[in-house]
Amino acid sequence: MSDLTLNLTAPNGLNYMQPIGLFINNEFVKSASRVKLSTIDPATEAEIASVYAASTDDVDVAVKAARKAFNEPSWAGISSTDRGNLLLKLASLVEENAHHLATIESWDNGKPYIHALNVDIPAVANTFRYYGGWADKIQGDVIETSPQKLTYTIREPVGVCGQIIPWNFPLAMAAWKLGPALACGNTSVLKPAEQTPLSILYLATLIKEAGFPPGVVNILNGHGRTTGDAIATHVDVDKVAFTGSTATGRQIMRSAALNLKNITLETGGKSPLLVFNDADLKSAVAWAHTGIMFNQGQVCTANSRILIQEGIYDRFLVAFKEQVKKVSKIGNPFDDATFQGPQVTQAQFDRIVSYIDSGIAEGACLAYGGKPYKNVNGKGFFIEPTIFTNVKDEMKICQEEVFGPFVVISPFKTEEEAVRRANDTPFGLASSVFTQDIKKAHRVARAIQAGMVWINSSGDSDFRIPFGGVKQSGMGRELGEAGLAAYTNLKAVHVNLS
Ligand code: ADP
Repeated sequence: MSDLTLNLTAPNGLNYMQPIGLFINNEFVKSASRVKLSTIDPATEAEIASVYAASTDDVDVAVKAARKAFNEPSWAGISSTDRGNLLLKLASLVEENAHHLATIESWDNGKPYIHALNVDIPAVANTFRYYGGWADKIQGDVIETSPQKLTYTIREPVGVCGQIIPWNFPLAMAAWKLGPALACGNTSVLKPAEQTPLSILYLATLIKEAGFPPGVVNILNGHGRTTGDAIATHVDVDKVAFTGSTATGRQIMRSAALNLKNITLETGGKSPLLVFNDADLKSAVAWAHTGIMFNQGQVCTANSRILIQEGIYDRFLVAFKEQVKKVSKIGNPFDDATFQGPQVTQAQFDRIVSYIDSGIAEGACLAYGGKPYKNVNGKGFFIEPTIFTNVKDEMKICQEEVFGPFVVISPFKTEEEAVRRANDTPFGLASSVFTQDIKKAHRVARAIQAGMVWINSSGDSDFRIPFGGVKQSGMGRELGEAGLAAYTNLKAVHVNLS
């Protein structure tokens, strides 16, 4: 044990070495200011650890390391196949360390361990492996113009990427950012969210073990307004990729304007889920439940607005409440029976409570839940799954992203009304349509203003499929082949053959 590593024992008994430094040039180091940030277990409110937080000076050191690595033969000069192999190796290391990673993720974030192990960690490994496979398939085109000219394009890496991620899926968000960036030959300065700094530091040890050269991946914990802002404004950062709230996305866009950085933003949502009279009710209820309640409702694509055609409204409501009662078991994240752990922080808990108060004050009907739940020690940021009915579209609870196990349900009459109301928020991330009528399903899918539409399911994203939003839900796409576009610049080469 050194002063850059802590020997920790997680609630499930796992004893392991937790790095707490900044990860720069493949080494853990202290921050220049020695300032630390503390992270707590949301299930017990006890401190887990303090980790070093990066100052503006530390960001500068990390950016210099990333710039140097970007130009070094050890990274810029390796074959695309070798670059891909590093990602494939990292994917295997993630799988070998699944128990460690899932334990840390669950402890720091509050999500059920079995969800971290069976959903998050496979998603991380799959994303690294998928982009490892892409590394040697990133190519330009030859474009015919005239016999006197040869014209072709080259896909070049963008350079040093600042990658700022949220706390709801820390490791998965790191993989979504690092996978395509590294496949394309970029280097990264990645900032985890201050609420969940631990799992990414453990991932850093695997990045080093996989054999990535020093400086290719640098990980800096710290607060948004200091570390995050220093990354977003740094003139030698070529690109910023961000996932988080719409308000912060707006701020990052302003900061990135300083040197006209390439940006991708994945921000908030208030995603509608429409159920028509002809839908398979049982299936719609099950998907709608998972779609809003999974991960404590802390999912940007969560179907937080449910619209039900009036012919099945009453039946849906009864069945949905039964499903919540049956499945949404609240409790200790390390208990296998738990579906819902605590919210990530007191601030998120308070935010949900304020929306519950707002719904009641605006005259909506609190149809289910809405009360705090306390762990055995009387602590923890747990809140009961919450359903509001009798809502009006203009209410705050129908317009703003709550980011919790909180859903509004209302009836609609016609397809035209459903589409109009589905589109009636500033957001446009995800949406779902439940119907057995194939024509209606595709018609509605086209009419909804969203980056993603699920027909007869909800939120089961896939690393091969583009992910992103329209309107105030962001710009650019992650995942799939589309995710590569954000990490390359296309260079056109004109050759005069005359
Ligand atoms: P939330 O409100 O849910 O915590 P944020 O959008 O504030 O979500 O946070 C997402 C990520 O953005 C975190 O890593 C956070 O530290 C970072 N962040 C917050 N504010 C800024 C900022 N002004 N500039 C850069 N990054 C920021």
